[in-house]
Amino acid sequence: MSGLDFGIAGKKAIVCASSKGLGFGCAEALASVGVNLLMCARGRDRLQQSANQLRKKYGVEITEVVCDVTTEEGRKAILEVAGRVDILINNAGGPPPGDFRDWTRDTWIAALDANMLSAFAMIQAVIDPMIDQKFGRIVNITSGSVKTPIPALGLSNGARAALTGFCGGLARQVAQHNVTVNGLLPGQYNTDRIETIIANTAKSENISLPMARKMLESRNPTKRLGEIHEFGFACAWMCSAQSGYLTGQNILIDGGSFNSTL
Ligand code: NAP
Repeated sequence: MSGLDFGIAGKKAIVCASSKGLGFGCAEALASVGVNLLMCARGRDRLQQSANQLRKKYGVEITEVVCDVTTEEGRKAILEVAGRVDILINNAGGPPPGDFRDWTRDTWIAALDANMLSAFAMIQAVIDPMIDQKFGRIVNITSGSVKTPIPALGLSNGARAALTGFCGGLARQVAQHNVTVNGLLPGQYNTDRIETIIANTAKSENISLPMARKMLESRNPTKRLGEIHEFGFACAWMCSAQSGYLTGQNILIDGGSFNSTL
């Protein structure tokens, strides 16, 4: 056997919310194994910059769609230009922290819309063609909070767990067609989003930003935050042609932060 072949060169992936951060990490890993991409984000400049970077580095075809994936119009804009879809990576921004006493039905509907129902709508749109073509890989970027809830992030805990529960059943319905549905659960990664968490930690602990960063790093068994290429690699592996027997799984990639044997 020669080098490891992911077997997905020339396939097409929609990578939602991918101009930076974890979505970009997934987009880059897929591009590196020859997958053509549809990338989206709300901000045009960063999206174009990121798409150009991957085009230049890997020579794959990339379509950019400037849109909000949590809206119906945004998803329509993606699906109108997507063409054949072999791989779908669901991702979007997370809901805000807060106190459950303040949340109304509307607060919950907004969180469910963004972190469950928009992923559901994307899955619903692509899954039958995946079944027909006998190949499909669906990965939801959720959060470590699905496994180890973060009290202040109740909306995230709830909405992402709901998506995960639905996908657990769906995975078993479509596995016979070589369509897999899995979740990737990030712990703490070195993305722009972590800066907010660092700022909150600095404020609550009354320490400087560098000290707050050090504190987060030192709490992790690896003594550092995760890097997006490490997350992206796991995504590409989940999407590989050889991963047809890997389905209905939720893999926590958190440097061992969640302390359990299994
Ligand atoms: P990030 O670095 O802030 O990147 C977010 C990316 O998504 C950007 O490209 C952003 O571009 C795009 N985006 C956000 N909302 C969008 C929307 N509604 N429609 C289209 N594109 C959108 O964030 P991240 O750290 O990669 O986090 C990604 C997801 O993982 C979030 O849901 C986050 O809660 C979750 N998560 C992250 C961590 C972590 O440590 N980083 C841990 C647990 C969970 P635009 O702003 O231009 O749209």
